[in-house]
Amino acid sequence: MRLATVAIDGTTAAAVITDGGASIVARAGGGRYLDIGEMLSDGQEGIDAASRSASEEPDLTVDECHFVRPILSPGAVFCVGLNYASHIREMGRELPEAPTLFSKLPRSLTDPGAVIHVPAISESIDYEGELCIVIGRSGRNISREAALDHVAGVTVINDVTLRDLQKRTLQWFAGKTLESATPVGPIIVTLDEVGEIGSLELVVLVNGEERQRAELSDLVFDAPALIADISRVVTLQPGDLIATGTPGGVGDAMDPKQYLRDGDVVEVTISKVGTLRNTFKVDS
Ligand code: MG
Repeated sequence: MRLATVAIDGTTAAAVITDGGASIVARAGGGRYLDIGEMLSDGQEGIDAASRSASEEPDLTVDECHFVRPILSPGAVFCVGLNYASHIREMGRELPEAPTLFSKLPRSLTDPGAVIHVPAISESIDYEGELCIVIGRSGRNISREAALDHVAGVTVINDVTLRDLQKRTLQWFAGKTLESATPVGPIIVTLDEVGEIGSLELVVLVNGEERQRAELSDLVFDAPALIADISRVVTLQPGDLIATGTPGGVGDAMDPKQYLRDGDVVEVTISKVGTLRNTFKVDS
């Protein structure tokens, strides 16, 4: 299934996306879910409701769909640094023995299609195209073997980063959690439709120019490894997001460095999943 949160009737609703448009997910007891996060919190009942809706006539045509981020306010946004083997080797580093984990505040997220406003606090705004894992079922100490049973699906995220603030101290937090600046979505695709995550390809364009291209099979720590590792520390909950890291080709690694400028359009595409497109409004 292809799951999304759409704007409708002055609010939002969880929907199943088909070729014909969006079918709003109807709760078993009547009413709607505000977003896919609320639907996932309902466990199997939410998934069953989505399955039923998938076979119904669309409530919105393709042209009428206005997507917002699929999980409006996740409990946690986990991120992984340095996770593509080819990129680590090209930087002359050893492959890490443990994932570099950090997090973003949920309020740093924004919608697909949103204009991302960067205030004058930074002169080095950069993109990081990434695959995002969406947790569907809670768990602690999840084994690698059972990890994918806890996944609702995957989507696209742009781990937008202020490089100057990221690098001013050892902790990256300030450079990673600019308010309303990390777009995610628009579609969560369930694993039965995606197949092997490692078979997916990620491509990032800036104003139509290719900057990043990588196979997901190049991840040092794949989805099961990340879920096993994070869930040793904290319980993963439905709607939690895991941004799996970015490959080579970020603007900060170019020579000369190419940071985003006012009006730039960044498109992150993952095969079988979709495209996340945002325009940047950069104050000087
Ligand atoms: Mg990143």
